[in-house]
Amino acid sequence: MLHNKSIDNLLDIKEIYLEPEVRNFKRGLEILEKYPEATLTEVDSHWKIAQLFGFEGSVEDWISNKKNVLILGIKKSLSARLNSRSSNWVAPSQSNGCTMSCSYCYVPRRKGFANPITIFVNIEQICNYLRRHASRQGPKSVPDHIDPNYWVYEIGENGDCSADAAICDNVKDLIALFREVSNGKLTFATKFVNRDLLNYDPQEKTRIRFSLMPHKMSKLVDVRTTPISDRIDVMNDFADAGYEVNVNFAPVIFYDGWLEDWKILFDEMNDKLNEKTKKQLITEIIFLTHNEQLHEVNMNWHPKAEDVLWRPEIQEVKYSQTGGRNVRYKRGFKKDLVDSLVELVEKELPYCPIRYAF
Ligand code: SF4
Repeated sequence: MLHNKSIDNLLDIKEIYLEPEVRNFKRGLEILEKYPEATLTEVDSHWKIAQLFGFEGSVEDWISNKKNVLILGIKKSLSARLNSRSSNWVAPSQSNGCTMSCSYCYVPRRKGFANPITIFVNIEQICNYLRRHASRQGPKSVPDHIDPNYWVYEIGENGDCSADAAICDNVKDLIALFREVSNGKLTFATKFVNRDLLNYDPQEKTRIRFSLMPHKMSKLVDVRTTPISDRIDVMNDFADAGYEVNVNFAPVIFYDGWLEDWKILFDEMNDKLNEKTKKQLITEIIFLTHNEQLHEVNMNWHPKAEDVLWRPEIQEVKYSQTGGRNVRYKRGFKKDLVDSLVELVEKELPYCPIRYAF
């Protein structure tokens, strides 16, 4: 039972921080009933919990915060944000934060560095908002690179929906909603295999994007995620269960021998994926960006990964909208890297178009 064991390793909720109004929502009550032993602490806002968020004091508690703590809140301002790469819209979040600990993750950049899962319990309001939003768009009359027929809504920008689904039915409810939204489709990327999702019956209206990278690198930087081979192993099952299965090659990390390792990954995909999965496969390719503050935090708990992630001699600084110092591969150098990987994908995975590569 892969999924039960791996979920138990990831999540053992002992403490719940909650906004008091959470008890007014069915989803809030369900979650509280699911963890009757957990210590409850009421907070004014899911966003400002001094014990959890912020830079200081959380490094030693990093993993236990992610494994043992859950935050319950209410998503107050509901809006969908226009997007242009993986989706047409980013849906209002049903959660944020994550129980996994990928060294390069951008989610803690926004929220402070200890960022356990926060679940928003007003899922009915979120679903109603999305239903109205999609209905306002009308039919998608002009196909784009995102989807030929449907407006696509991203629901996993701030966490990992497969892990969230181990806590409650928010993701299940969203998938059920989009069965009925005639002009819309959901999408999220994942690094976690939760086989419960195989029973959600998405009827081809949810696109799941399995994030893949060479095994060797994943073992170093994808901390607490499902091993790459196990992710590839379930892709045919997800296609059979009615998901549209896509992949993300992300983040792509440069190191000596990187392309040889990508070739090994592609060989495994070629061996394991069946014709049905191959036929629907599209990939998105995203090269690494990293962040100076996160680098400094990582140096305290996982310095080995920083040897490959933090490479000032081949990276350049790019300030984010919020003023953070991010780094990415230097422009000309990066173009060569992108071209090399694109060429390899075209050669080794001829059935797999590239939605974008940057
Ligand atoms: S699975 Fe995604 S959200 Fe979670 S830590 Fe990794 S990159 Fe971040």
